[in-house]
Amino acid sequence: MKTEKGKFCTNCGALLSKDAKFCTNCGAKQPEDDVEPAKTTSA
Ligand SMILES: [Zn+2]
Repeated sequence: MKTEKGKFCTNCGALLSKDAKFCTNCGAKQPEDDVEPAKTTSA
């Protein structure tokens, strides 16, 4: 679950910054799907 302001911890549901790598509440590692770089076809 995500919001414009951020996202929710996948473990405890705490509201985190959208670019948070870890939960500030429980310390669980967060997926970084929001920061995935655009794919290019450049060799
Ligand atoms: Zn958490």
